Amino acid sequence: MRTDDAADKPGSERVLHGLGVSPGIAVGPAFVSDGGEIAVPEYRVAADCVEAERERFAGALAASLKQLKKLKGKAAALPDSAAEEMGYLLDAHIAMLTNSRLVRGVARRIAEERVNAERAVQMEIGEIGDRFAAMGDAYLAARGEDIRVVGARLIRNLTKTPYAALQHVAEGAVILAEELTPADTALMDPRRVAGFAAVLGGPEGHTAIMARALGLPAVLGVAGLLTQVAPGDTVILDGTEGAVVINPRRETIARYEALRETLEREVRQLSRLRRLPAVTRDAVEITLQANLELPRELEQALAAGAQGLGLVRSEFLYMNREDLPDEEEQFEAYRGLVRGMGGRPVTIRTLDVGGDKLAAPLADMQGGEGANPALGLRAIRLSLRDRRLLDAQLGAMLRAGAEGPMRILLPMISSVDEIRKVREALAQVARRLKRRGVKIADPPPPLGVMIEIPGAALAADALAAESDFFAIGTNDLIQYTLAIDRSDEQVAHLYNPLHPAVLRLIQFAVEAALRARIGVSLCGEMAGDPRFTALLLGLGIRDLSMAPGKIGRVKQRVRALDLVAATRRARAIMDQLDDARIASLLDDFNDLA
Ligand code: PEP
Ligand code: MG
Repeated sequence: MRTDDAADKPGSERVLHGLGVSPGIAVGPAFVSDGGEIAVPEYRVAADCVEAERERFAGALAASLKQLKKLKGKAAALPDSAAEEMGYLLDAHIAMLTNSRLVRGVARRIAEERVNAERAVQMEIGEIGDRFAAMGDAYLAARGEDIRVVGARLIRNLTKTPYAALQHVAEGAVILAEELTPADTALMDPRRVAGFAAVLGGPEGHTAIMARALGLPAVLGVAGLLTQVAPGDTVILDGTEGAVVINPRRETIARYEALRETLEREVRQLSRLRRLPAVTRDAVEITLQANLELPRELEQALAAGAQGLGLVRSEFLYMNREDLPDEEEQFEAYRGLVRGMGGRPVTIRTLDVGGDKLAAPLADMQGGEGANPALGLRAIRLSLRDRRLLDAQLGAMLRAGAEGPMRILLPMISSVDEIRKVREALAQVARRLKRRGVKIADPPPPLGVMIEIPGAALAADALAAESDFFAIGTNDLIQYTLAIDRSDEQVAHLYNPLHPAVLRLIQFAVEAALRARIGVSLCGEMAGDPRFTALLLGLGIRDLSMAPGKIGRVKQRVRALDLVAATRRARAIMDQLDDARIASLLDDFNDLA
């Protein structure tokens, strides 16, 4: 990360760099988000609940400290003096949360005054802040302000409040925040919001995927973002190159406007491919399907000529709400998709929360995040733990499957036992619905599994014997194979789809599926990047599922390819052990064909 441009007077142009995670150019006034006003709940805690309330506070405290330490790591990337200044500030915030008067005071208020943790934080912060203010010293007054900021963080972590204020930003605003969850992002209306940038976040995390789904230009991992900008400043985001320009000069705005027009022209040209088949030069048909984060993308999928929905992430139904969606609500949502696709297959995945996409009503069911949320009680593990979740989803899917072709996909499968349990549950739910005379898919929809855990790829033969199809999820496959958190910008440079270990696991899974004669698609972000198309087809994949906006470019690549040559090149690539050599063999092939 670096900051450019000579002038550091307020109001002069500054360029910050981060990761361009969602392409496009946005220009607009900055909306600097601090999470918005949070309504602080207030209630009395019964004597036998005091311990649980103190634990809840301890959880929010740990989450706050974790966030501050992450921000500190990020600040180290700033230029010298800024890194130092930011480091001091964050150290002060960390100290305020480490065995401090604030922490002791909150714990005491919960126990003695029996108020809930949020209210206890609010009371304690108010008292400390007032005391600082009364001292009439500018330095101490600033510390009072710091303590209020720290208190707001604690309350946000206690209430798990999403950035609800994001729904009401001024028309055309560029949102700048410390960190945005996928649920926060889902609240942004792309007709109102121009784009967003955040200090934290990696290129393959779900916030990035959600940005791409909404077509919002986004830049993540921008060190020093919030210290360099005031609300209302004009900001340019370049979501392709990963740049954030604050207070741009007139010439800079003109340059980016021209770039935006070029990008839009390109998109228009690609949309002309919509009606053409995705067929290679040597006449092999390839299936290009769409991934859906939100139902509102259905129109885009149809406009892009998607041949089906290869991955519907059902998490959208669980975001930004306090309760869980029942079977009926889910049925209506799934039926809308099945009908909307007019006879093209729809693959709906059961709930995949956990890691970076925790949904609020499920946090309690998960019993806290655990030390390694990416390895914890998530996805299919959570669904099997709580059959209410699984049964409501399976029931809705069985019913929607009566309206058109539909497939059920299971996330994070690691063993055959999990597939067997879901099959049993599916049969039970089907029997119950039939008894009630409800119309369901008969026979039941095909049941497939995500191959996204290295162990699942290595045991693909065994899993293929129990499943009807595979969907290879390279986002998690790369994360778990290379031990790289996909949403952590600090290790983003190590996230390498061309690592030989990743390619071998993909090859292994594809071959197992072909041997077992079951379908295999690939629906990770690799599927939507034309750089990888030749290699993936060369490895035997004939079905790719991606964000709707990516279909045009991938189709263009498919139509320019000779599959025999691509297969030969894939074989040569699979003989290599060195990432750099693999990359150059692929890029040379792409340049030629
Ligand atoms: C994947 O892991 O590649 C995938 C498609 O699933 P998600 O991105 O939702 O984890
Ligand atoms: Mg995944």
